Amino acid sequence: MSAQKRRSFKKKLEKYTSQRIALSVIDQKQKELDEECNTMIRTIKRTVAEAFVANTIASEEFYLISGNYFTKIEQEYLPAEIAMVKFSFENGITNKYHTYVAPENIQMGYQADAIEHSTNTHRLAVPPNATGERNYQRILNEMKRFMGEPTPILFTFEENIAMIKSFIRLFANSGNNDDIKVYPLHQLFYEIKVMTAKNSAMERPSFGSINIAKEHLRRYDCVLTAGTACAYHELDCGKHCPLSHVQHWAYILFHHICGDLNIKLISGEHSPCEGQSSRSAIASNVVTGLTARVDRVLSVQNDKDIPTLASRINRKRPGGALKSPKISTFDST
Ligand SMILES: [Zn+2]
Repeated sequence: MSAQKRRSFKKKLEKYTSQRIALSVIDQKQKELDEECNTMIRTIKRTVAEAFVANTIASEEFYLISGNYFTKIEQEYLPAEIAMVKFSFENGITNKYHTYVAPENIQMGYQADAIEHSTNTHRLAVPPNATGERNYQRILNEMKRFMGEPTPILFTFEENIAMIKSFIRLFANSGNNDDIKVYPLHQLFYEIKVMTAKNSAMERPSFGSINIAKEHLRRYDCVLTAGTACAYHELDCGKHCPLSHVQHWAYILFHHICGDLNIKLISGEHSPCEGQSSRSAIASNVVTGLTARVDRVLSVQNDKDIPTLASRINRKRPGGALKSPKISTFDST
């Protein structure tokens, strides 16, 4: 049988799903996902093991990322807000990055979905009324500058991975973004916990399974997140703020890991400063050497740029009346 006939014969035998997708395509996709997952686990295990061998786990720097979106169409998300933190167990959270994103428009036919999603979650004004950074290339450049070289792995909640990858694809405008890896934080958390418990001089309990790490991260604790939301979300719905998410996750890791590493928790580094709001937190970081950002950060500190709680409650349509802060907040070096 010729190759052409074989192909034609094979095609006739091909099975399809109800959406007319060939099962062989689904199998291939699944194989690629499995391979990607195995690579991810191997990379995380190797990173953690190497840090323990070199005795640098306490000073190793990790990066967390989270975000909000306006619309989700299949695997493509339209960004609304992004936040990252850099931390080490030794020094706590050492740097933050945060920006609002203002796409020009919502995709045709998805305006109602975007408004509904915003109303139920982050409550940011929906394009074309969104305010924030409109230049995607600039956002990507700033993210890369925040991450430094070589590009570190970004960790996030498992459910956020597709969203963050989609944001990066959009910012890169189909350009090369293969160097930015986005991996699940619970996997890193679990690997570190297992290793710290094993290597600790004292008797330390480990996690019985990886699901324990996931559950710890999933718990939203108001005490841990007090004063960590961005200026806009500080007014309400802070639990939907990505700046709050990334700090919350870091604090959870500190809580469970620092003791194993014999590191004392310091308020303001391993937990929010007592009585500190996010606005004063950002301002204080600026004062410690980020003067180039003062004007931009202070423009957000100005109360007239932040919608009041009353204006949110009184508004009729989240896509129309609600205004976002005028510009992104940054806290990067
Ligand atoms: Zn926010």
